[in-house]
Amino acid sequence: MYKHLYQFMRLMKPSEFRTRKYIREFERNQWLSPEELHQISWQKLKILLEHAYTHVPFYRQRFQEIGLTPQDIQTEKDFSQIPLLSKDDIRQNGDLLLATNYDKSKMTRDATSGSTGEPLVLYRASDYSSADIAAFTRSYRWFGGDMGDKIAWIWGRRQDGSRVTLMQRIKRERWLDGYTVTPEIFQQFAQMLGRWKPTIITGYGNVIYLFAEYLAQQNIRDIRPKMVQTTAVPVWPHEREVIEKVFQCPVSDRYSSHEAGAIIAAECPQGGKHIFSDFCFVEILADGRPVSPGEMGEVVITPLYNFGMPLIRYRMADIAALASQPCSCGRGLPVLQELMGRTTSMFTLPSGKLLYGGAFRRVVLHYVPGIQRFRIHQHAPDKIEIVLQIKERSNEDIINSVRQQCLPLLENEPVELTVSVTDEIPMTAAGKFLVTTSDVPVTLN
Ligand SMILES: [Zn+2]
Repeated sequence: MYKHLYQFMRLMKPSEFRTRKYIREFERNQWLSPEELHQISWQKLKILLEHAYTHVPFYRQRFQEIGLTPQDIQTEKDFSQIPLLSKDDIRQNGDLLLATNYDKSKMTRDATSGSTGEPLVLYRASDYSSADIAAFTRSYRWFGGDMGDKIAWIWGRRQDGSRVTLMQRIKRERWLDGYTVTPEIFQQFAQMLGRWKPTIITGYGNVIYLFAEYLAQQNIRDIRPKMVQTTAVPVWPHEREVIEKVFQCPVSDRYSSHEAGAIIAAECPQGGKHIFSDFCFVEILADGRPVSPGEMGEVVITPLYNFGMPLIRYRMADIAALASQPCSCGRGLPVLQELMGRTTSMFTLPSGKLLYGGAFRRVVLHYVPGIQRFRIHQHAPDKIEIVLQIKERSNEDIINSVRQQCLPLLENEPVELTVSVTDEIPMTAAGKFLVTTSDVPVTLN
């Protein structure tokens, strides 16, 4: 009942008609053939390029530098002449990446919050947010969920689970701080969710797994969502099994990023990890060239609805391969066969608190410029080592910035944090280079 009231309330928003239009479009698109879908994303990409060339100073200059105009870009090979975009490009060019025909004051400023330093600042206009909601909605509908359903987030450093804000009530959301967890925090959240009964639970895969383990230990069985959507960290098969057993529902893993908006890819009920190619143009490249299906390459994305601040050919720092076979569900959206993103462990601190290792990744990458690769390893509860590969900055300067960003995460726990710089961090065997690992066993006591 309240879901319909919420959906009705949303209709009052002028952007709602656009959101609904996008939802209908995405729903329709998914059943088109791969060729038709490719045609759709290519057309959207062309519109974005034209817009970026006309209205975005950074891209006008970039096109001039390579001696091309959007009309010259007729094939993917032409498109690949546009240089890749990095986090440092975004940082260094700031407002030059904003479209001049969009009012900056009306866009949402999205910066990583809660710390000092130079955050990576992104802006998004309301049309992008509408497409974002529509993309989320498609992924929820695959499992019987919908826009307006109750969603519990285990995510970021928000607040403790015991407080519910008015905005959360209106938006039908509940938040649990996903960075630091203890059995007490899980207990509060479990009690709240048991009463509130969410339709969808979403958040960091490894923290949701720990939450499921906690619920199993405590024999708490009254949280029964329609789906669990994990993200940020790949879920291992045994973790997926535990989550599905405890919540009695399927797990769908979503591939996303702060910069890309909601979704780059998500798993359908048949398990195919579909690229949302009508929302985000995805390239998988090795030595600058697109790879064949089954071959691993670097993920490069171009969000197709980000007209306020276009990010064209943005490097994700993840490695993936495309599947050669379509998914058995019949959807024409391309499928990722393998995704080797970030390895992210939980860190057990001396007090027994568990810290989400991705928190380090976030502050290091989003607040400290000039970092190419890093490795964060916990040797013992009180010993964490960060190794950086950097460019164009003095070692001392960057080490200090990284320390300054990471220390608050440790909340005065007696941990020796060492930061050093090396010339080259080799990729691991699995092709990863943003790696957060720990030798310390994770237990919830
Ligand atoms: Zn599928």
